[in-house]
Amino acid sequence: MTTTAVTDQTERALLARIPTGLYIDGRWTEAADGGRFEVVDPSTETVLATVADARPDDGDRALAAAHAAQPSWGRTPPRVRAEILRQAFELVTIRAEDFALTMTLEMGKPLAEAHAEVSYGAEFLRWFGEEATRISGRYSTAPDGANRLVVTRRPVGPCLLITPWNFPLAMATRKIAPAIAAGCTMVLKPAALTPLSALLLAEVLEDAGLPPGVLSVIPTTDPGSVSGPLLSDARLRKLSFTGSTPVGRRLIAASADQVLRVSMELGGNAPFIVFEDADLDAAVEGALAAKLRNGGEACVAANRFLVHRSLADEFGQALAARMSSVTVGRGTDPATRLGPLINAAAVARVGRLVDGAVAAGARLALGGRALDGPGHFFPPTVLTDVPAGADILDEEIFGPVASIVPFDTEDEAVRLANATPFGLVCYVYTRDLDRGLRMGERLETGMLGLNTGVVSNPAAPFGGVKQSGLGREGGREGIEEYLETCYIGVADPFAAFG
Ligand code: NAD
Repeated sequence: MTTTAVTDQTERALLARIPTGLYIDGRWTEAADGGRFEVVDPSTETVLATVADARPDDGDRALAAAHAAQPSWGRTPPRVRAEILRQAFELVTIRAEDFALTMTLEMGKPLAEAHAEVSYGAEFLRWFGEEATRISGRYSTAPDGANRLVVTRRPVGPCLLITPWNFPLAMATRKIAPAIAAGCTMVLKPAALTPLSALLLAEVLEDAGLPPGVLSVIPTTDPGSVSGPLLSDARLRKLSFTGSTPVGRRLIAASADQVLRVSMELGGNAPFIVFEDADLDAAVEGALAAKLRNGGEACVAANRFLVHRSLADEFGQALAARMSSVTVGRGTDPATRLGPLINAAAVARVGRLVDGAVAAGARLALGGRALDGPGHFFPPTVLTDVPAGADILDEEIFGPVASIVPFDTEDEAVRLANATPFGLVCYVYTRDLDRGLRMGERLETGMLGLNTGVVSNPAAPFGGVKQSGLGREGGREGIEEYLETCYIGVADPFAAFG
């Protein structure tokens, strides 16, 4: 939690400390054409900073640095890489207030949630620091006894990392940390809406001892023009992307030319299923966490509340009552539980989804209309009896809107839950353990929250199936995305032994 009261002066002092150039090959530089863009506070619509706006030439410089640094970095002892990550963990933790306030200012989330993200984001640095020294291979005898099989692991090579605006620190460390641990060099392109957290992180990683060229950070307002040439450049070996499914799909196609390794953390449409035997109070608590965390602007946000008909009214009333007491405001205010959406387009989109649901026959139990500015605020909103076919059930809402759909049987709940091209996370509330485990087998999902509304954990494999993505981040699996397997066949050492 924050220990320093946030004043205008605190904000100005922090903003003055955050680097705003491009970080390329261990140096802070301006963009090739000297261009800069504005970073805006979504709570006040005021400009927080201007940041260098990378052009394709800057991307090329960053990739050249990553390519040049790869051989020596790949040979760095794992313990050295581990110590850099550990030191970075310590420094992010020491500077937690700076990171939290930076995220609150540029993204809007309440300070308490920003602090939670600092802990979560820092933990990837510690976790993968520990994993760096545990990369191992194997030595075995071929089944026919003729050869020995030596299997080794090595870094994939230079990576392009592209991250979204909703978790500006954690989405970056979730990629950077395993890449460092594996011995890969990288170019990070953060979202233009929230570049400051990533620039601060670059400074901390440099302070932690990361050598020049291993990480470059290139914010840009023209991501397609900057990333396009990198994806078709033979020096790049991997793309790791977190963002929307439509952009991810395009980037997978663009990665085909060089047959890049790709990791994709894409959109979701999480069902939150409440069975008739659920602990209702616990389900409402879990729903609040799964819906309002990050203002609903999370890929793991509960998007559709599928509630057994016997509980649907009671659940809807209890959730609306809890959500109606949530304080909406600027994230720097300690009373704030719900901050703004990221921009005006997000407010318009959420408004359209709510209006569409009401027009289709849903009942509005709470909220429903954007709040007056300045700031992009949308209030907690609850819709009940949302009919099949409403866009709000098919699209990622990315806002504080809960849509409740009643169901009658387990089969119906499973059918509704799986009726989406996404498969990132599902939440299930039931007291029946068999049913809970059965859901783990019946639901098409990469993750399942059983009687909990929060699944993210640096020690767990995060990721989705279907159009929610490819690969996993975090856990023991996370480092695998940055490692190649090399097999060495060795002649039988006993062949001439007699
Ligand atoms: P987005 O797809 O618009 O942007 C994500 C990133 O891609 C940004 O850095 C953006 O600048 C960049 N980008 C956009 N167009 C590009 C292009 N043509 N070439 C290269 N880069 C491009 O997504 P967003 O609005 O920033 O983030 C929200 C989305 O991210 C949601 O769909 C959410 O579900 C998803 N998300 C997924 C996870 C996960 O782990 N599965 C986590 C967080 C967010």
